[in-house]
Amino acid sequence: MAIDVATLTIGAAANVRAAMRQLDERACGVLLLVDEAGALLRTITDGDLRRALLANDDMGQSLASLQRVEPVVGGQALTAMDALSMMNKHGIDHLPVVDDQGVPLLLHSRAELTSKIYLSTPHLAGSEMHYVQEAFETNWIAPLGPNVDAFEKELAAKVGVADAAALSSGTAAIHLALHMLGVGRGDTVICPSLTFVASANPILYTGAEPYFIDSDASTWNMSPALLERALETCRREKRNVKAVVVVNLYGQSADMTPIMEICDRFGVPVVEDAAESLGATYQGRHSGTFGHIGIYSFNGNKIITTSGGGMLVSDDVELVARARYLASQARRNELHYEHTEVGFNYRMSNVLAGIGRGQIAVLEERVDARRHVFERYQSALAGIDCIRWMPEAPFGRANRWLTTLELVDAPVGGRELMRRLLEHNIEARPIWKPMHLQPLYADAPYLFDADKGSFADRIFEQGLCLPSGSNLSDEQQDQVIDVLRKELQAC
Ligand SMILES: *Cc1c(COP(=O)(O)O)cnc(C)c1O
Repeated sequence: MAIDVATLTIGAAANVRAAMRQLDERACGVLLLVDEAGALLRTITDGDLRRALLANDDMGQSLASLQRVEPVVGGQALTAMDALSMMNKHGIDHLPVVDDQGVPLLLHSRAELTSKIYLSTPHLAGSEMHYVQEAFETNWIAPLGPNVDAFEKELAAKVGVADAAALSSGTAAIHLALHMLGVGRGDTVICPSLTFVASANPILYTGAEPYFIDSDASTWNMSPALLERALETCRREKRNVKAVVVVNLYGQSADMTPIMEICDRFGVPVVEDAAESLGATYQGRHSGTFGHIGIYSFNGNKIITTSGGGMLVSDDVELVARARYLASQARRNELHYEHTEVGFNYRMSNVLAGIGRGQIAVLEERVDARRHVFERYQSALAGIDCIRWMPEAPFGRANRWLTTLELVDAPVGGRELMRRLLEHNIEARPIWKPMHLQPLYADAPYLFDADKGSFADRIFEQGLCLPSGSNLSDEQQDQVIDVLRKELQAC
């Protein structure tokens, strides 16, 4: 947030013309007039120079002739919030921070302190335009084309699966996965309650019934023990469980080894919803490659984006080929338009796949950046006992897509804290509202451990997602940290 001051300082021997030129070049609205030792004498704005010229019509007059005014400055311990309140108090838009000798170190500006800090925004690599341009130049604007083929290959190689099909969204990928597994009317699909609605809606698209289960506090993901109980209960109730949707929440893999073992034992295939966990690993292997079918999302807020899009992956190459065919209106390979079954229009466009190619190349950097954001929050707020970060299970490496926390015995609730962050122009979000609490799914069964209580309910009430983008600056993050420190100091 703060601005590098080296290019903003000007000596008192310089004249008004030089100051105007420097102001113009820096386009920052303010200069810092310093003495020979580099200590700040005063700030200079356009208005100050205008007044000097009105008083004395001479561009050559030295800046030493400007009136001496004691500059409003902050010390090195100044927080972003303090800076803003000092600006408000003095009616100024810039605040220099100086060292003990009065030498300016940095400059806070109102425009930057009050610009909104978002939860998670697209972070372009710079190379996307090259591939998009190529699509334009070769007129591959229509769906499919070389970018789609290359993006599929690049993603499959990156995560280590046999094949991948680029689709229009992660939701479409889940729907297609369930469709290919033969899920239909009257069937049951097991799904964690604690997830985004897009994990569950495709179950309804197929006409099947969702059966929700709770997640473990140690991973925030599907509890293997509850999964086993749910499968036993369903067997007793003669439900036809056709699939299990496993979600890797907020970038952390679910405990896939026991989950796959249980599902194999019951003969139920797994769709792994890795929309949030691309780039994370489980036991050294990429998240999203454990289920019979895995899906990723490239929605704008995800770890990498194509503005909108998804991918279906599997080691079963015939299954992926079938996904491509079904996603292209299930059009048979004939000269005329031949259809033997219902299909969908779910393919990714060649233009958007170009964005994906630029993005997939920087996946590791994006994971490292998000993990760095998490680690900065964790160390800056280490003394605040009422914060419990989403634990990172020893079985893997999360991508920390979003930094999430639970408040325990905090002086302020999760919702209230979110509102207070918003007052500072900081976008925080609650944890996903569990499916069993959604009016849409009010009639669906929900299994949780009665002794422990429902984890999904608890984390929804007391949890929070913090701004976590890989392009979040340290200064922006410090603003978030300031507010959290202030609001949670009593705990
Ligand atoms: C984003 C998301 C999806 C849906 O992906 P889209 O590409 O937005 O359709 C599915 N599941 C989870 C857990 C998600 O976070």
